[in-house]
Amino acid sequence: MTNLPLALRAELAARVPFSSLTVERTARALDGTVKVLFRTHDGLPVEAVLMRYRDGRRSVCLSSQSGCPLTCTFCATGAMRFGRNLTAGEILDQALHFRRDEAVNHAVFMGMGEPMMNLDAVLAACRRLPDLGITHRRTGISTVGWVPGIERLAGEAPPLRLALSLHAPEDTLRSRLMPVNERYPLAEVIAACRRHYERKRRRVFVEYVMLAGVNDDPEQARALGQLLDPRAFKVNLIPFNPSGSSYRGSSRAAIERFRGALERAGLEATIRLTRGRDIAAACGQLAATA
Ligand code: SAH
Repeated sequence: MTNLPLALRAELAARVPFSSLTVERTARALDGTVKVLFRTHDGLPVEAVLMRYRDGRRSVCLSSQSGCPLTCTFCATGAMRFGRNLTAGEILDQALHFRRDEAVNHAVFMGMGEPMMNLDAVLAACRRLPDLGITHRRTGISTVGWVPGIERLAGEAPPLRLALSLHAPEDTLRSRLMPVNERYPLAEVIAACRRHYERKRRRVFVEYVMLAGVNDDPEQARALGQLLDPRAFKVNLIPFNPSGSSYRGSSRAAIERFRGALERAGLEATIRLTRGRDIAAACGQLAATA
């Protein structure tokens, strides 16, 4: 912009907001993860995270809402006050913030909020992400299992990845962990994901947070094997991050045992690499306190 006169540059800077979000705080973890707390123009908190991996992946974890109206019992965001849906500009500005410092190449909607409850703005932001270097195939939308959103996404053209937060193999336990299950029970959610797979031919990633003595028994892994077709679903086990709730995370050994049981049941399963734990930037810890 140095081809513009200095006075005009100053005028532009003063009149045209650079971003719809202002940075309130930045935290850097030892593993290179960066968490930023932003404020919207109306003072609401929004958090986003940049995750750096050794293989060169630079993944931005984006929020779709300030807070979350759903009240998953193990999630810190679920315990905070719900603000509102974010606009497409506010979603995109989270990614642009990190892009100013370095190239980014993956995006996941795993920050604050339920993206399927704000799908218009999420899709509008996704359509722009390729301009930032993030292709549709490298963009993932994670949902509690909001059936109308899953169905709509299945009918949309961009090949976005779908991730389902499952966390339990049967309705009673799932409703205890995720009250939204009362509204959209397991069978309906799985059927909607299945249709998404059939339309898109891309496997649905199942997220499963490992809670000690709650959902980590190998018997529950076998039940998942009954529930999920391995051609359509792949499981990602998430080590639990302390979030102020009374749950405890499963031990490393218990997670490995569970993974073994899933594989014997025919399901492909990976264990998520935890990033940013020392700055409370890991999954489910995005709850602004400031
Ligand atoms: N609302 C969407 C996206 C945001 S949460 C959804 O639920 O999918 C992103 C993921 O982090 C979800 O799988 C969520 O269940 C998980 N999560 C929430 N709290 C967590 C915690 N304390 N430890 C580990 N994972 C957590």
